[in-house]
Amino acid sequence: MQKHLVKSAVMTAILAAPYLLGGCGSGATGYEALGGGGDPGSEGVEPVDVSSDVAEDLTFLREEEKLARDVYLTLYDVWGLTVFSKISSSEQRHMDRVAETLTAFGLPDPVADDAVGAFTNPEIAGLFEELVSDGLEDEVAALTVGAIIEDLDIHDIQNMAARTDDPTALATYESLECGSHNHMRAFMEQLRTRGADYDVQFISNDYFIEILAEAKGSCGDGAQ
Ligand code: MN
Ligand code: MN
Repeated sequence: MQKHLVKSAVMTAILAAPYLLGGCGSGATGYEALGGGGDPGSEGVEPVDVSSDVAEDLTFLREEEKLARDVYLTLYDVWGLTVFSKISSSEQRHMDRVAETLTAFGLPDPVADDAVGAFTNPEIAGLFEELVSDGLEDEVAALTVGAIIEDLDIHDIQNMAARTDDPTALATYESLECGSHNHMRAFMEQLRTRGADYDVQFISNDYFIEILAEAKGSCGDGAQ
């Protein structure tokens, strides 16, 4: 099944992500570029009152939200399903919210090129190719890619939230996770309409069932 190929690719990326964020041949990460907090005055950059975990997580999340937007825009072009168009707009708002949060912390934006499929993080770039490729098979495969992206996004955001008590970062994580719950329900509704289902790969099955049972969330500041 295509799904297993996707799972394998996604798992590889997850395992690699923490190391990538430490700088994997692509130069300093945002946090390091700012001096890592240890020597803030050396390049005339203001000290940033944010932990390295938050800096790395927000930098990763900015492109993870772009991954969602770009995959959905691409699959909308292929299949013309409204669900992809609607949710890609929401992912744009999520990207904007993370960009605002990076700015609030004085951190640089990893998105150098807003074009669909352009990524600074090479693992996310690879995931984009794999997920789009799998979504070309048929509508169910495309909707399954949507469910995988939301499953992964919720999983990653929960881990990010567990690593900080910064209220600004937590508010961003909470808003984005709320949106992901809505997206997961939308993709599941479309899958089930087609007689298909989805087995969660990242979050627990209990949490998945809980998400599906929730009422639609408004998610604050329109970030649904
Ligand atoms: Mn999102
Ligand atoms: Mn989403």
